[in-house]
Amino acid sequence: MSGDQHDPRADTFEEVLGETSALAGRWLDGVREGSIPPRAGIDEVKDALGRSLPARGDDAIAVLRRLADAVEPGLMRMDSPRFYGWVIGGTQPVSLGADWLVSSWDQNAAMRAVTPGVVAAEELAGGWLVDLLGLPPSAEVGFVTGATTANAVGMIAGRDEVLRRAGWDARTDGLAGGPRVRFIAGQERHISVDDAGRYAGLGVPAVVASDAQGRIRVDALRDALAEGSGPALVCLQAGNVHSGAFDDFAAAIAVAHDAGAWVHVDGAFGLWAAVTPGLSHLTAGMAGADSWATDAHKTLNVPYDSGIAIVADPTALYSAFTQQAAYLAASADVGDPSQRVLELSRRARGVPVWAALARLGRDGVADLVQTLADGAAALAAGLRTVPGVSILNDVVYTQVCVAFGDDETTRAVAAAVDASGTAYGSPSQWQGRAVLRFSVSNWLTSPDDVERTVEVVREAIGRRS
Ligand SMILES: *Cc1c(COP(=O)(O)O)cnc(C)c1O
Repeated sequence: MSGDQHDPRADTFEEVLGETSALAGRWLDGVREGSIPPRAGIDEVKDALGRSLPARGDDAIAVLRRLADAVEPGLMRMDSPRFYGWVIGGTQPVSLGADWLVSSWDQNAAMRAVTPGVVAAEELAGGWLVDLLGLPPSAEVGFVTGATTANAVGMIAGRDEVLRRAGWDARTDGLAGGPRVRFIAGQERHISVDDAGRYAGLGVPAVVASDAQGRIRVDALRDALAEGSGPALVCLQAGNVHSGAFDDFAAAIAVAHDAGAWVHVDGAFGLWAAVTPGLSHLTAGMAGADSWATDAHKTLNVPYDSGIAIVADPTALYSAFTQQAAYLAASADVGDPSQRVLELSRRARGVPVWAALARLGRDGVADLVQTLADGAAALAAGLRTVPGVSILNDVVYTQVCVAFGDDETTRAVAAAVDASGTAYGSPSQWQGRAVLRFSVSNWLTSPDDVERTVEVVREAIGRRS
């Protein structure tokens, strides 16, 4: 190590990043075969990192080595092609590379005129996404941290717009004293919809019954809307986390729009079904909604954190999120990135999205999404050959929800699968039953990985009986 190790100004990017690249390579080499669950818990990792803040710091290379050595045993191999927990994608090399560049450039991506380079890439990526997803060409895109925030962006824009139509200016006057916005969502909405609704000041949603696959019941939605009057916001779902099911958008949006409601679609991973002819029947009619939320860090396999908020009416979006401040060099004609999201300062997280799309192209994105769904279908087909497995959902997309008999047996087999190190699903509860839920969301998952996963389940059941 050259220079004075106690003077951080003597650190060179070349030396520090060279070591970082080696440490990252060590981790990434384990993508395909590394054991999945963490081996160390939080206390062990804290001990290994060292608990007290030293008076004099260590040298940069030593800090990074200690970080990697201490933290790696406490990491979950979420990038494994046989990791099916929650809904979590891996990372394509090109997106990770772009993400490294974004960190290196360290641009504050709030304003167009200030950093045209990253804004250009983000604006192109946003336009490409709207086109790929078959959404209205007028729609504007905001790059946010995840679908929770993207849901909040859509709901805040929608809330302000339905209140404006009711003669109330929430932007100026806030919510207190104005008409109540009726917030309506399906029984099997994602929990983040409730969070987003709270951030938007909407309270908890009025819950509409769902069908056996978790789709909102359109007759029940019609009844719920008919029960009241005044401004309303309806949240629909593209991709149920347990079943992968999609709401009947054409019918539900017609019913909601008849009642004057704003329609927001939570499509954290499901929105992507629209990009491939083999799956786009699932999203039929979805483009008629008013706002959409999705994640690039799930289906597109871009590194965290990368959510996308899309609003059809740019005026509704900009009027909800535009700050006015003279010192900001805001461009007069086209909106700044910060005028479409909650954040002012933020990293240029749309750039890795651009890189993923540029690497894959239109056909490659369709192929990625279709391959995930094909993987789920193959996993379900393989599991059906294992005695004792019940597939509980119609496998229409990337999710496979299984039980292994009674709840106790399901929990025990699920724990054994996850402890195997070779495959990992999410133990959960769906429609009153213990389940093990697989989400095929990783770009690397191959037919061989699917076969190995089926064998892990077969062995776990075999050991139990
Ligand atoms: C993951 C998910 C969310 C939340 O997304 P984050 O990126 O974790 O904020 C919302 N809805 C659905 C259906 C999801 O799968």
